[in-house]
This record gives sequence, structure tokens and C-alpha cells, in this order.
Amino acid sequence: MPDQNPRIGHGYDLHRLEPLAPEGAGQPFILGGIAMEHPLGPVGHSDGDALLHAITDAILGALGEPDIGQLYSDSDPEWHQKASTHFLEGAVRRMMARSYKVGNLDCTIICERPKIIPHKPAIVEALTKVLGVGSDQINVKGKTHEGVDAVGEGRAIEVHVVALLLPDP
Ligand code: MG
Repeated sequence: MPDQNPRIGHGYDLHRLEPLAPEGAGQPFILGGIAMEHPLGPVGHSDGDALLHAITDAILGALGEPDIGQLYSDSDPEWHQKASTHFLEGAVRRMMARSYKVGNLDCTIICERPKIIPHKPAIVEALTKVLGVGSDQINVKGKTHEGVDAVGEGRAIEVHVVALLLPDP
């Protein structure tokens, strides 16, 4: 008998930003599956998409399942430079297997550059496809870190996501 209660999850991720290879270890800047022009890019084992990682962890967290680092270890060569949509699709499959669907997501992206607002519609549209939801179920907010600390100095990107899952009998 599936759980009949809504479930809530929180996901968090941070990636260091460095000059793009070969000058640094940064990979092309991609967020929510959308490529963006930026002289810096995320350092990570996969493609470093902090938004997709945080959404994946919010869904897994709501389900009480192992987190993204446990399921897709950063020491496993299989996930090296892997598109992060793969991880989110894995979380969605686990959600469906548990008879849940996404009620809504609220995402907060914190970085100095690039500006997130112009990319919001493309990010939301990409997420609707992976998650099988309407655009009114996904909210994306962009904030800066007011110039302080590593995020404020443009050396990192940080993302928080809250996900509400609803029973889908
Ligand atoms: Mg990550």
C-alpha cells in the first residue's frame, strides 16, 4: 500500500567555478540543462550542473532514499562528465516506482554571474520535460551573494531546492 501522504524534500549543492579548460578545471557552464556563456565553469566529476544535482537530491530526500552522492559516486568513472539529466531521470524513476509525482519545486540559485533571470524560461521549460510537470509547478529564483564569500566573489555557485511530492495512485 503506497504512502498516502505528501512528502517534502530539500536539496542543496555547491560547485566551485574556475576558468574553463585548459586554463582551469572549469567545464562549460550548464545549469538546469541549459548552456550559458561564462568565462568560468563548474568543477565537478559529472557536468557540474548544480541545479539538477539539487533537484535530484530534493526528490530523493523527499522519498527518504539514498542521496545523489551515494547513488552516483564521484569516484565512479561511469559518471565522469555525465549529463546530470541522467541523475534526475534516475530520481524520477524512483519517485514513480514509489507512486509519487512532483507537486511543485521551488529553486533558489545563488551566483554573481551569469545572470539567471534571462535564462529562467529555458530552465523551466527543460525541467518540465524531465519532470513531466507544467511550468506552473516549477519556480526558479536567481539571487546574488552580495559580493561576499566565495559565492559572492564569483568562485562558486550554490543552489537550494525544496520539492513537494504528491501521491500518484
Ligand atoms: Mg553537485
